[in-house]
Formats: sequence, C-alpha cells, structure tokens
Amino acid sequence: MNTHAPAIVVLGNGSLATARRIQQMYPDALIHGLADRVEGADRTYADFGANLRQLYQQDVPIIALCAAGIVIRSLASVLLDKGAEPPVLAVAEDGSAVVPLLGGLGGVNVMARQLGAGLGVAAAITTSGELRFGTCLLNPPSGYALADLELGKRFVSDLLAGEPVRIEGDAPWLSQARLQEDEHAQLAIHVGCAARVPSASELLIYPKNVLVAVDAELPDIAASVRDALEQARIALPALACLLASDNQMASAALRDAADELGVALRFAPPSATISSLAEQAVPQLLPALSVNDKLAIAVAKQPLDVSRIGRVRGRLAVIGLGPGAAEFMVPAVKAELARANDILGYETYVRMAGPFRPDQVMHCTDNREEMQRARHAFELAAQGRSVVVVSSGDPGVFAMAAAVLEALHESSEATWHNVELAILPGVSASLATAAQAGAPLGHDFCVMSLSDNLKPWDIIEKRLDLACQADLALAFYNPISRSRPWQLGRALEIVRQHRLPETPVVLGRDIGRPGQTLRNITLGDLTPELVDMRTMVLVGSSTTCAFPRAEGGSWVYTPRWYGQKP
Ligand code: SAH
Repeated sequence: MNTHAPAIVVLGNGSLATARRIQQMYPDALIHGLADRVEGADRTYADFGANLRQLYQQDVPIIALCAAGIVIRSLASVLLDKGAEPPVLAVAEDGSAVVPLLGGLGGVNVMARQLGAGLGVAAAITTSGELRFGTCLLNPPSGYALADLELGKRFVSDLLAGEPVRIEGDAPWLSQARLQEDEHAQLAIHVGCAARVPSASELLIYPKNVLVAVDAELPDIAASVRDALEQARIALPALACLLASDNQMASAALRDAADELGVALRFAPPSATISSLAEQAVPQLLPALSVNDKLAIAVAKQPLDVSRIGRVRGRLAVIGLGPGAAEFMVPAVKAELARANDILGYETYVRMAGPFRPDQVMHCTDNREEMQRARHAFELAAQGRSVVVVSSGDPGVFAMAAAVLEALHESSEATWHNVELAILPGVSASLATAAQAGAPLGHDFCVMSLSDNLKPWDIIEKRLDLACQADLALAFYNPISRSRPWQLGRALEIVRQHRLPETPVVLGRDIGRPGQTLRNITLGDLTPELVDMRTMVLVGSSTTCAFPRAEGGSWVYTPRWYGQKP
C-alpha cells in the first residue's frame, strides 16, 4: 500500500473548491497549483507535465483535477519505467466524476471509492477483477497484507479464467466477494501469519495480528525482532506493532526500530514481565511467547486494531504561523496543523491557523495566560494526543516557545518530559516587514520588545542606548499599547540622541494580513500616534538608506558593508 499523502493537482482557480473538499478527506494532502493562475495553493508548479511526472516517479498518489486525457498524455513517457506505481486519478473540476487511471495495486480503486463517497458520485471502476469479484483481491483491507504482488497478479488472472478457489484461514471480507468457492479447488487463498513460501496456486495474505513487546534496553531492537519472528516462524508482514513500557517513551532506539520495521509503536503501563506487558495491553491475545526477558511475541486471533493498544507517545509542537498570509507559513507547520488533535493559543491566532476539522479541538485562551496554556498543552500531550501551541510569526520570538520550555523545565512530571516536543519556526514580523520594505535589516541589527510587562523599564533603556551606540538597526516588537502609553516616546528620545532625523524608519502594520499597511518615514517624522500594538517599527542604522521605487514609494536597505565601501 502506498503511504505517501496524495498531491491534489489543479490547473485553475475554478477547481479550487473541489480541491479543498478533497483536502478535507486527505488532510495531509497538499494542493499543487499552476503558478500565476491558482491562488492560495500549498505548492506551485510552472509546468504541469513535468510536475506530474516528478510526483509519479516519487511514488506520490496523484489526484488531478482535469481531463483524464491530459493526465494520460503527461505521464505517457514514464509509464513503462516501473512496475508498482502510485494511484493516479482524474477528477472532474466540479467534482462530478472520479476516474481511477493507474495504480490498481497501489489502491487506486479504494481511493476512487473514498473520493466518490466524499463527493457524492460513483467512481468509474473499470478493473475486471474488481468488477467480477466485487473487491480487489490484491488489495486486502487494512489489517491485512498481500505476500507477493507478482504471484498475486497471476493468481487473479487464473481466477478470471474461471477456475474455482478455496479459502484457508479467516478472511471475513471475502464473504462479500463473488468467488466461485470449492473446497477441492486447486487455487487457494491462504490467510495466516505463519511464514511460508507461497506456491503458484496460492494467494497468500497475512493478517496483521502479531505484536512484539520489547524493552528499550534490548540491543539492536529491529534486528532482534526480525530474528525472533523468524525463529517463531512468523511472517514479518504480520507484525502490527511494537509495544513498550510507557516509562521508555522517550527512547530513540524504540522509535528508530519501529520506523525501520514500518510499524506503529505503542506504550502501556510497566508490567512485571515483558510478556505480561503484552497480555495486559491486549486482552484478546493468545498467551505471549517470551523469547527472553526483553522480548515477547504475542499473536491475536484477529488483526490488531493498533489504535486501541496502549497509547502513542504524545506530541507537542510549538508552531509559528508567520505574519498571517498562508503562503508565508512553512510546510512543516501546515502538516503539523493537519495532524493535530488539539490546538491551543490566543483566539486570534487559533482562528488564523484554521479552519479545523470537526474532530480537532480548539482551546482558545487569553493572550496573557502563557504559562497556564503551556502546562495545559503538556497535560494533553501526556495523554498521547498531538497538540499544537500556536504563535504568530516565529514561536521563539516573544512568543510561546520559551514559555513551553520554561513550563517543562519547572516540572518534574515524567509524563511531560516523555512528550515528543518540537518547535517549528515561522517568519517573524520584523523579517516579514523588512522584506516588504526592501532590506532595512540587511546588516547587523537588534531585536527588542518595548514591553515592560515582563522586564523592568531600566533594562530596556539601557539596552536601547547600547544598541544605538553600537549603530545597530533596530526592530521594535510590542512598541506601544493602551496600558503602556508613554514608553515608545521615551524610547524614541534615546534613539534620537544617537541617530539623525533623516534616518529611515519603516512602520509595518498587520503585515501579511488583510488591510496591511507599510509606511516609509524618517526618525524625525516618527511619533507614537503613528504606531499601535499591531505595528512593527524598524529604525535604520547610520548606513540605512532609501530611494524611490518605480511603482511608487521607496526601497529601504542597509548595505552589507560598514565603514569604507569595499
Ligand atoms: N512571535 C511574533 C511576535 C509576537 S510579539 C513574531 O515573531 O512575529 C507581538 C508584536 O509583534 C506586535 O506588537 C507587533 O509589534 C509585532 N507583530 C506581530 N505580527 C505582526 C504583523 N503581522 N505586522 C506587524 N507587526 C506584527
């Protein structure tokens, strides 16, 4: 089965609405839009054919919102290159038709049916095996894995030729299939977790009903698991997950082993022995087989529902949205928002990060409750949830990342320390504003918050004075607010002791958001009335200069050199 998130490829704005409906069904999918034609795509491309071929060759499922013919022509030159291929579907711009084109073995018909169900239309299934048997025998439902594709293809063509078949083992989904069953048939569909070499007359399907409980101290976990299964004559594809004790949640060795084996990693409360760890986590298991005191194999009668075994390691990501506009949000942040169960933050930013699916929980709080919010985030993540704490701009710049780390530092709660913590950067307001103005921060600069809520005003004056003495360009966050009315005026008095009135100043307000304004003025003209709490103030150094732009306004920049021009 293909595990990549699909790419939704659109050619024009006309198909964006359908693309977004599809994105709701596949939250990790990115919308690829033709540059200059499609607004608000997650990725842009310049050449439709080249983009499609590249996706295909990278094994990325393709949902193209255009005529089937365009897709076929674009991929024609690469079709012969490979055996297994990603699902490729053409979907009508208005969502009225879903046509699976390629990737029958990669699950294209399953995707076509999902898309059809989501869009309220019947998928155009044309695969003969699927039509005859009502299911794709080579694409068993989740919880099962096919042993060998090539053998499978031959098996299905024998079946299509009219041969009867018998079913060995438990294959509940086949009770719906229109198969010509005969207990004496030569052809057999065999379902079981035992390792065996499939014969030519056999379609071998493994149920994912095996769990291996491991201790993180076990040397070379992945290789040990493989060896143990081989010794027990159990097929590796039948392995559904690794299970470990939850006090070993932060173990990188466990995570790497699960990644290498391509299975889920789950955690359960510590138990006296490694086999009782497994037996307590999954009641319907057959008695576990202890290979040694650090590894036990357990087999269930049915495929295991991994999501109900113990729990996952929780994740907490502190993300930066960037200044506001979606195209300035980094892709890793988008992916994190898509996987989140809980989103915490100041209401304005949580709304900006949306829209969210109905299953995602928003926790909006007041901007000042930072530490409380950070602790709440850890409590949720410690339960195994995927939690996102939202900041505007960059989370490490006068925002939530430091508060989250401080909450963790102060806590001795092991479950908090075991959470997988990630800080994902964003474009900070000073950088977003600078980019629009030109390059006012093109040389050494100093970033300061003018808020004296969390630090004494004295230290602000001192730092400001020294930064000015050092002739650094200045970026002021939190320049003014209703509760801090006089501070900016006082700060400007200090700056004026060091800088000339002609020094360029850039005021960026709501940059990257609706109604943004950018003003280029001079230090002489700067008064606190021009500034509010949604404004970024950039003050040039002695070398910062400005010149007119052809389209009006001016470019502001600080040259790379200092002193003598090289
Ligand atoms: N973490 C944020 C900064 C938070 S402090 C970042 O990295 O951008 C809040 C201050 O940032 C505001 O008072 C304002 O000075 C500035 N700011 C944040 N977003 C802004 C935007 N879109 N345009 C202009 N200034 C902004």
